[in-house]
Amino acid sequence: MSVELRSSRPRRVGAGLVLAALCLALCSARAAPADAQAESETPPETEITWLKTAPRTEKGRFVNPIGPLPHGSGGRMPFFWRRMQATLWPRKGAAEAKASAREEFLNRPEESPWVTWVGHATLLIEMSGVRFLTDPMWSKRASPISWIGPTRLRDPGLAWDDLPDIDFVLISHNHFDHLDRPTLRRLAERNPDAIFYVPLGNGQLLRKDGIENVVELDWTQKTNFGPLEIVCLPAQHWSKRGLRDNNAALWSSWAVLGPSRRFFFAGDTAYFSGFTEIGEQYGPFDLAAVPIGAYRPVDMMKASHMNPEQAYQAALDLQAQKALAIHFGTFDLADEPLDEPPQRFMEAGAEAQPGEAETWVFSLGEIRPF
Ligand SMILES: [Zn+2]
Repeated sequence: MSVELRSSRPRRVGAGLVLAALCLALCSARAAPADAQAESETPPETEITWLKTAPRTEKGRFVNPIGPLPHGSGGRMPFFWRRMQATLWPRKGAAEAKASAREEFLNRPEESPWVTWVGHATLLIEMSGVRFLTDPMWSKRASPISWIGPTRLRDPGLAWDDLPDIDFVLISHNHFDHLDRPTLRRLAERNPDAIFYVPLGNGQLLRKDGIENVVELDWTQKTNFGPLEIVCLPAQHWSKRGLRDNNAALWSSWAVLGPSRRFFFAGDTAYFSGFTEIGEQYGPFDLAAVPIGAYRPVDMMKASHMNPEQAYQAALDLQAQKALAIHFGTFDLADEPLDEPPQRFMEAGAEAQPGEAETWVFSLGEIRPF
């Protein structure tokens, strides 16, 4: 049975709850089942190199260089129950929209670079006159099912009708809050020449929807778009979309390197030593977008998500001048209070020394030059 389905009307409450649990399982960031990952021993930390093509198991599944990610200890069913409650009775604390956002966007400066936060991991960026989106997501739910699953708590910071033409799209991995097929289909229809850059193994899903301009890259592979160099880079995460596709498709971060600016998109990741390697090889970055939310329960989340302090440390490791918070306040995916990640992230950056990364927390739809 595939879980890539869209059902229009609920039929049975029991089936709905099962599906809800399943979809929450797929959308949340619990550690990947170890049986789909390498059976080899985790190598000592000092020997781990992340800047290389992604390792695979004998069965061809991708695996992080540190080996299988830990599960965390127990508490999974209570967690899914809490997630389901949050879906049915949304919690307070979602990100705020900027009242003047639309006006500011429509009157944006003609000169790039600039960045605007649409919500969650979706950014619209223009560098050297080239416009691109990260993990574009305009749908109401981050879910395989249209009527249940994590609900968007606020409208996108940029209305679909105000979205200008785009040149390319970066996708970090296949979880439902990052790879949203309805949004990608609509984007491809509106921008038939746009290129969709994805980590290895994700192209098939896009081609199913008739999207042919797909470029699949392994970690450390690069390509060019006009004046920009695009580099697929590691992240410590995992992938899953159906019942039996654990880590069949790769996950990644991305660097976009231009003649005057360098941008890094962390996607969805734990804190890992790869940030230092990436900073040394591809930094310093003018702007690094780092995920700050979905870190509780800690045991369950820490192998695949960062907390706000780790996200700020990642920006320091990356040698970023500005650290832009993403992955919070839009979908309720984990146990921390919704408004806690941005507060802790700002506090983490408050003690920055001169020359260290400045923390940027946007309202939805906010636009800034960088
Ligand atoms: Zn994810």
